[in-house]
This record gives sequence, structure tokens and C-alpha cells, in this order.
Amino acid sequence: MRHINLLHTALFLALSSACMAQTKFKPEDTEFYEPKPRVVMNNAQVPNDAIVLFDGKNLDKWESKNNPSQAVPWTIKDAVLTVKPSTGDIQTKDKFEDFQLHIEWKSPETIKGEGQGRGNSGIFLQGMYEVQVLDNDDNPTYVNGQAGSIYKQRPPLVEVRSDKDKWHRYDIIYKAPRFNIDGMLISKATVTILHNGVLVQNNTQIEGTTEYIGLPKLQAHGPGPIVLQDHGDLVHFRNIWIRPL
Ligand code: MG
Repeated sequence: MRHINLLHTALFLALSSACMAQTKFKPEDTEFYEPKPRVVMNNAQVPNDAIVLFDGKNLDKWESKNNPSQAVPWTIKDAVLTVKPSTGDIQTKDKFEDFQLHIEWKSPETIKGEGQGRGNSGIFLQGMYEVQVLDNDDNPTYVNGQAGSIYKQRPPLVEVRSDKDKWHRYDIIYKAPRFNIDGMLISKATVTILHNGVLVQNNTQIEGTTEYIGLPKLQAHGPGPIVLQDHGDLVHFRNIWIRPL
């Protein structure tokens, strides 16, 4: 990536000096051919350069967060992954920095509880920053805790309701925070989220960890896993893939 930036910088400087000299441009002066973007196919709704984290068959890419050596206790039935309450969160074995993540989720069939106690789960980016999953249908709660929020920080731009089949889709584009070699913050994490194709977070800055109580915490860290939350509700997941960026 760095050499691309250098190339663009060199091009910009060349053009700037050309401007100052009032050079007359030809079209090809501002066209370049290298490096070429990679070719990616998306014929089966999963880009062919994506890492498939869950395709309905197994949880080989996942581990229990509390007991990584144990098999993941959540259940798979009819190609759908379901939280097994009180067994704890699960996380990817791989760790990630910047990425594009696709994940689909559905609230429990049996409606029970209210507010944060109804259909609650979550997707923790780098294991620290929660994108909320919640049954929002006629279920008032604090807006920075509803589905599509960055938990306790930013509500979604709009409330997206589920389709006929009740499945929701999140497409999450995440840029990790940057720290210098001394652990000082250079830039905070940012996230863009499409919920069922509708923009709900637009390059939102993440202030730090998404705490239930208290203010966000921000400490230097490296790559982290995708974590799915066990909040005690039978939330379903399917079709999870990620493209490191
Ligand atoms: Mg949650």
C-alpha cells in the first residue's frame, strides 16, 4: 500500500509542478496502468477472495472465547448457527485488522423479554468494539443500544426493520485504530455499516471499547478476532465471510 501512496504522491508533485509551469496537459499525462486492481469474482454472493468464516457446515474457524481449547458449544442446524445461552462468546481463531465483514442474523422465533433483554447478541470488531444485534421490532430501548448501533456510542442513522424472512444482513467496513511504536494513538477506528443494504454507520469514529458501564477505553492493540456475543438469547447467524483489507 505504501508504494501506491508514494506513486500517487509522486504523480501529484509532478502535476503540481507542471501546473506551476503552466504545462499544457494531454489526457494520457494523468493516466496510469500499474499496479492493476486484483480481479475478484462474486458470482455466488461470496467474493472469491473472502475467508469464509461460517458457511453452514462447521465451526472450524471458531473457538470458545473463554475456553479456546474446547469445542465451540453453539449449535448448527439446517446450516444456521445459534447461540447456546450461558456457554459464552465465541471468536474467530484468526485475528484481523482492517476488513470487510458480511454477516447475517435473525432474532429468536419466540419473542420474550424487552429492551436489551430481547434478542440481544453482538459482533465485536477486533474483539473490543460491539456492533449491536437486537430484536428492534416494537422494542424500545436506548437508541445507542439498538440494532446497528456502536454500542453505547453511536445510534444507527436509521432503524432498519427486517425483511419478510426476518433475516438481517450487516456489511461492515472497518478500519482499525492506529498507534505508534510507543503505543500512542494516531487515529481511532472507523466503521461503515450497511444494514440490509441501508447505510446505518457512515465512517463512524469508534471512541474505544463499548462498555456497558462507564466510558470507552482506548489502549494500543494489534490484530483481534471477530467475536459473537452470548447474551443469553437464541439469536441465529448464517453466511459469515470476511475480506482482510
Ligand atoms: Mg449485544
